[in-house]
Amino acid sequence: MEVRPKIIAGPCSAESREQVLKTAAQLSLGNIDFFRAGIWKPRTRPGAFEGAGHVALDWMIEAKEKYNLKICTEVASPEHVEAVLNKGFDMIWIGARSTANPFTVQEISEALKGVDIPVMIKNPTNPDLKLWIGAVERIMNNGIVDLSVIHRGFSVYEKQLYRNNPNWQIALDLKKELPSIPLLCDPSHISGRRHLIYDIAQKAMDLHYDGLMIETHCNPDDALTDKKQQLTPDELFDILSKLKLRSRTEFMDEQLQDYRLDLNDIDRSLIEILKKRMEVSEQIGLYKKDLDMVIFQKSIWEKAFKENIKNALEVDLSEEFASQLFKLIHQESIVKQSKIFLKPDEED
Ligand code: PEP
Ligand code: MN
Repeated sequence: MEVRPKIIAGPCSAESREQVLKTAAQLSLGNIDFFRAGIWKPRTRPGAFEGAGHVALDWMIEAKEKYNLKICTEVASPEHVEAVLNKGFDMIWIGARSTANPFTVQEISEALKGVDIPVMIKNPTNPDLKLWIGAVERIMNNGIVDLSVIHRGFSVYEKQLYRNNPNWQIALDLKKELPSIPLLCDPSHISGRRHLIYDIAQKAMDLHYDGLMIETHCNPDDALTDKKQQLTPDELFDILSKLKLRSRTEFMDEQLQDYRLDLNDIDRSLIEILKKRMEVSEQIGLYKKDLDMVIFQKSIWEKAFKENIKNALEVDLSEEFASQLFKLIHQESIVKQSKIFLKPDEED
C-alpha cells in the first residue's frame, strides 16, 4: 500500500512578516501538511541572526489564518512552550541541540504536562540512539501521545559530502525500538545543500519513512540562516512530484529468498575476512610491542588509506562508504593492538 508522506515545509527562520507571508502564500498552492519556521534560532556561534523572537509568533498566526495552514515551530524552553501554546500553534518540535540535553528536554516536557499538542523530536546532534529515545520517553512520560521523530543527521568534524552524517542505521534502530512512532526525515539539515535534497528524500521514502521536513523559502539566496539548503516552493513541489513511493507490503517470494540467502553467505564471508584481518593486526601489535614502537604510524596509515579508497572507487563503491569503512576497521585494529600493549608481558 502506498502512503503519501506527511510534508512539513517552510523557511529555516521567520525573518520578516513579508517573508513569512510570501513563503506561506506560495506553499499554500501545493499540498503540504504543516508550515514551519524557526522563531528562536539556536546558532552555533554568537553574533549570527538568532531569530525574530516573539514578534514572529504573530506572523505565523497571520499565515495560518490567511492561507489556512497548520503551523509549527521549534521550542527550546518552557517560555517558548508557553508562548506558542498561548498563540495557538498546531504542532511543535524539539531541535537537535535541545534533544542532546536531558535537562532541557525534561523542562520542556514538564511545561507540556496536560497539554494536547503534537510534538516532534529531532535526533540529538551526536549519534546517540539512547539519548534520542530518552527524549521521546521524557516527553511521553508527561502525557504527550501524538509524538513523532525527525531524523536530521549527526554532526561531523571533518568536511564531507553531507553537512550532517545521516547514519541511517540509528534512525532505523529507533524505528525498531519504537515501531509505532512516525519517523520523518529532514533532508535539508542532513544535506546542507539543496542539490542533494532529492536523493536523500527518495532514500527516506525507500526506507518507508512517514514524512519529510524540508526547508523552503520564497528567496533562498537571501535567507538569513541555512541559505544553501533552502528550496523555493516551486523547487519543493517539483521534488515532491518526482518522489517514487513504494509499496509498504513486506513480502518474500522465492527469488527474494534466494537473493537474501546469497547476501547472508556474503555477510558471513565478510566477517571471516575481517576476523583474519584483525588477527594480522594483532600480530603487528605484538611485533610493535616487542620493538617498543608506537601503535599509530600516521604516514603509513594515510598511504594505505589512500590506496584503499582508490581501489574502492575503481569498483564503484562510494568514497564516503569506503572512507567510513576503512576508518572503522582501522579504529578496531587500534583497539585490538592497544589491548595487546596493555597486557602485562608474560614471564619466561
Ligand atoms: C531547524 O530545523 O531549522 C533546525 C535548527 O534544525 P536542527 O535542530 O535539526 O539543527
Ligand atoms: Mn535550518
